[in-house]
Amino acid sequence: MLLADVHAHLDIFGEEERTAVVKRAAAAGVKAIITSGIDPDSNRKSLELQQQFKIVKAALGLYPTEALKLSAAAVEKELDFIRSNNGKIVAIGEIGLDYQEAKSEKERQLQQRLFEQQLKLARAIGKPVIVHSRNAEKAVVDTLIRCGCKKAVLHAFHGSLKLVKEAAAAGFYVTIPTNIQRSSHFQAIAKTLPLSRLLTETDAPFLASEKGGKSEPAHVAATVARIAEIKGMVAEEVANIIYSNYQHLFS
Ligand SMILES: [Zn+2]
Repeated sequence: MLLADVHAHLDIFGEEERTAVVKRAAAAGVKAIITSGIDPDSNRKSLELQQQFKIVKAALGLYPTEALKLSAAAVEKELDFIRSNNGKIVAIGEIGLDYQEAKSEKERQLQQRLFEQQLKLARAIGKPVIVHSRNAEKAVVDTLIRCGCKKAVLHAFHGSLKLVKEAAAAGFYVTIPTNIQRSSHFQAIAKTLPLSRLLTETDAPFLASEKGGKSEPAHVAATVARIAEIKGMVAEEVANIIYSNYQHLFS
């Protein structure tokens, strides 16, 4: 089976556990794991992990809350670093807007500016973006459209089904995380959107299928099985379509 995990944080795992996790993923048929950086340290770690493991690909970015901790000069420096690694990475991410964490209107505006700066960079180097949105779903979709972004993945997207459909109509992909097993929201997305707009992710070690558990890339196999069940299709066929979406977007 051909499987892809388009959003994980492999840097969070300890070294030994990470090696085991990547091995289990490969054994489950996962051909690609995109590990996303969120700050300067994890961006460098993403590049290292891509060197270390054949199936791991790097995405670099500044997460909304992490970006706020950096000075304007440090942000510029990091964006230059990302630009200079253009040839090694598959996407810009994890970037986005998090209004739950924004304590003031000023912080929201700063998040917005940092998000748009990174969208501009992604566009300039021709890379897709992996987007986080929390309590800011509408603002995220509006910003992507307004900035002329053509290649985007909405990760763990909790917008309304109406907004999900709007995002899909704009050409964006929506991911199904491993917590689809317990989330009626993601079950509804899997049912509503055509397979041509879906991707699979784990956000490993987060968003596990069991509350309080730890997710890992191998779990996308169970996600694909669940999507197949919802769509009334064969798992292999679902896996192949989602994998071709991954290839189309990231290569
Ligand atoms: Zn994430």
